[in-house]
Amino acid sequence: MNKLAINGGTKVRTKKLPKYNSMGEKEIDAVTKVMKNGVLSKFIGAWCDDFYGGEKVQEFEKKWSQKFDAKHTISVNSNSSGIVAALGACGIGLGDEVIVSPYSMSISATAPFVYNATPVFCDLNTDNYGFDTEHLKSLINGNTRVIIVVHIFGIPSDMDEILSIAKEHNLYVIEDCAQAPLATYKDKKVGTLGDIGIFSLNYHKHIHTGEGGMCTTNNDTLATKMQLIRNHAESVIEDKGETALTNMLGFNLRITELQAAIGIEQLKKLEDEVLLRQKYAKMYDNALEKYPFIKTNNLQNRQSAHYIQVFEFDEQIAGISRDTFIEAVKAELEPVEDRENEGVPIYQGYVKPIYLLPIFQQRQVYNKKNFCFKDTITYEEGICPNVEKLHHHTLWEHDLTRGPLTEDDIKDIIFAYTKVCDNINELKK
Ligand SMILES: *Cc1c(COP(=O)(O)O)cnc(C)c1O
Repeated sequence: MNKLAINGGTKVRTKKLPKYNSMGEKEIDAVTKVMKNGVLSKFIGAWCDDFYGGEKVQEFEKKWSQKFDAKHTISVNSNSSGIVAALGACGIGLGDEVIVSPYSMSISATAPFVYNATPVFCDLNTDNYGFDTEHLKSLINGNTRVIIVVHIFGIPSDMDEILSIAKEHNLYVIEDCAQAPLATYKDKKVGTLGDIGIFSLNYHKHIHTGEGGMCTTNNDTLATKMQLIRNHAESVIEDKGETALTNMLGFNLRITELQAAIGIEQLKKLEDEVLLRQKYAKMYDNALEKYPFIKTNNLQNRQSAHYIQVFEFDEQIAGISRDTFIEAVKAELEPVEDRENEGVPIYQGYVKPIYLLPIFQQRQVYNKKNFCFKDTITYEEGICPNVEKLHHHTLWEHDLTRGPLTEDDIKDIIFAYTKVCDNINELKK
């Protein structure tokens, strides 16, 4: 009866997991109105009223500011574009160093290269997967300008410690909040704890507009610079009366009225989605924390937005490898409908530590090898041992803490985990 599916037993669940579609009638109506009106974007890349975009873009930004307690919000066409605009606004350039995370979407580590600056990788702690603050301090020197904090998996980093280090050394702090909308640190929402916060609205995130990003800040100067970088700065600054030229080479990072109209509706759903994830995450933690080989998250002083839920597996105590354990859990379940090719969405590790990617290993971004790199900064295997151990041996994550999964779905998935935990001896050969 309890024989594990991986050993030929019966699966816990033979029904596929429900597919995900958060677009409803409200979004469809909002888009239809914009379509009928015909003005799909109102931005103009010159100093005039339309420099700030159309009605929907401005309304979306205003509502985002209210929701996130921010003075300014600048919409952009992705979180990636937002990080580029934010770093530009901070005024970085050749020779400057930016402290980045090795365990994130690659852009939050590679964006400094856009301004010919140098990324420096900081290891993470295994408590909340934010920066290891001792390692962080050891990386700072006279060239350091910015720290890019990533609230990875939706868990806020230790912002008090990081902000106090930043203050002492006069550094900007950018928060990559792509995975952490409405997550809180000491009851304050992430995104305005540092100088600039950046959110993502791509299809996979809590709420989405297809593609998109939102930058929040309480700093007037940084807001203006990001608006300029978003929209052809070089053609605007003369008429606008801006005289500082640093990083005033602009891009087109604008969103359309259609995306903004969808975003206004999606934003109304965000809080419920986060609350649902927090409830489901507790169900998993309550069921799994009793196993001595499983470590759930320590969320003291903070609330995660649970973009994905992570756990750690102790191979020594369990007597089997993490990878064997995860394969056995996956064998008990079925994939998500219409995304069958991705298999059951439970994953060993997260992403390969970013410094191991070819651009760092070969030290080449532009046409000249080593340009933007420094002899003093290496990217060898071993520079962030915690992240390497998490990735190869301990951490696993799943995308099964979200809507539209129902409580019954969650119970099935929990049963798949506990069945394998209770019968772990079957996996020891
Ligand atoms: C998704 C994500 C990004 C990139 O967001 P885009 O909007 O796709 O550019 C950056 N950082 C993290 C941590 C992410 O999860």
